[in-house]
Amino acid sequence: MGLSVHCIERLNKDIFNNSLNKDNRSTAILMPGIEILREAGIWKKISKHSAPLKIMRLADAGGEKGRIRYIADFSSKEVNQDQFGFNIPNYLLKKEMMTHLFGYQNFSIKYGKNLSKVITRNKEAITLFDDGTRISAKLIIGADGRDSFLREINNIKKKKWSYNQKALTFVVTHEIPHDHISTEIHKNGGPFTLVPLPSEGVNKSAVVWMDKAEIINALIAMTEKDFSYELQKRSLNVLGEINIEGIKSSWPIISQYAKKLYGDRLALIAEAAHVFPPIGAQGLNTSFGDLRSLSSLIKQCLEKNEDYGSETNLKKYNKDRWNEIYVKILGIDALNRAALFENKILKDFRLKSLKLIHKTGSLRNIAISSGLGY
Ligand SMILES: Cc1cc2nc3c(=O)[nH]c(=O)nc-3n(C[C@H](O)[C@H](O)[C@H](O)COP(=O)(O)OP(=O)(O)OC[C@H]3O[C@@H](n4cnc5c(N)ncnc54)[C@H](O)[C@@H]3O)c2cc1C
Repeated sequence: MGLSVHCIERLNKDIFNNSLNKDNRSTAILMPGIEILREAGIWKKISKHSAPLKIMRLADAGGEKGRIRYIADFSSKEVNQDQFGFNIPNYLLKKEMMTHLFGYQNFSIKYGKNLSKVITRNKEAITLFDDGTRISAKLIIGADGRDSFLREINNIKKKKWSYNQKALTFVVTHEIPHDHISTEIHKNGGPFTLVPLPSEGVNKSAVVWMDKAEIINALIAMTEKDFSYELQKRSLNVLGEINIEGIKSSWPIISQYAKKLYGDRLALIAEAAHVFPPIGAQGLNTSFGDLRSLSSLIKQCLEKNEDYGSETNLKKYNKDRWNEIYVKILGIDALNRAALFENKILKDFRLKSLKLIHKTGSLRNIAISSGLGY
């Protein structure tokens, strides 16, 4: 749109790049997000690092024997789509995005800058940094994560709750090809998910293993040999022999949403606005929805010569996004709570619900559409 964009990052460049390289997670980007990357002219570069996700497989192993007792497959073909989305290692996704951004003359990134104050005026916001420098802008986009400073200084309330649960993430190689099937195994404590990665000559998948915090802590403290045994057991051999490659990292699981998405010349996006448990690939995909909404609002304002940082216009952004985010937060919270069931009656109820969704055409279509991100 020809606007000048200054990106401010608190971490210094080396720490930022280091944490980027150490991020062993991958992100399943659903089709609306892929469309945004295509429009931005960056998808071609990212696609070479991606694996298409063609089938979502939910396996229930919540019975007494702990074996798989029901498999529900949802295929993108049923709705005439080649795939639900693509899975991409985070460090490659971010690297390609950064390289692309540096190609714009009207883009700059400033590392190691700590925002200390914001002064808002009629037509602009002035951001002041610890080092005495300042930047003025019509609009500040608050993408400063779940503990957002911008959200706090604007007195925007948030609702947050946790589940005493963590996610352990790592990459595995495996004997049986994944065939572009993303597999989520439900037992108790949270799902164990295998998400296809590009093969690079060996079969590879990303693992998100969710469980109670104490169990994840114990898994991290285990010897390599004991961990391998637990991993093989938890995977229920769905991909044959499975081996961890590289490091593991753990992430606390919370749900959180901001009670409104705007402040004085401020629009909140991404985790500053919403945090989900990593189920159903909602996090970054919802952030793509924020981007779509905000950029079309800015575009309309530019066409009409209106101030896109005004309260009237930012209220439109809030109206467009808030309900959708809230409904998604409640939906993912319900799915996560169902994955946490320990009681036999509740686990059997979860199985019945899965069978019902899998076998009832209309419910099945809703599940497939939400898997596609529409
Ligand atoms: C295990 C796991 C798996 C996931 N899988 C998926 C998936 O498959 N698909 C999906 O869509 N989503 C997924 N997500 C969610 C996704 O990773 C998050 O939505 C995303 O990482 C959040 O990005 P963010 O930019 O909002 O926040 P962050 O990554 O936290 O970035 C915030 C940045 O702001 C900087 N910052 C903070 N405060 C300031 C300040 N005052 N001044 C300047 N800079 C500041 C920080 O240094 C940081 O770099 C997953 C999440 C987890 C934990």
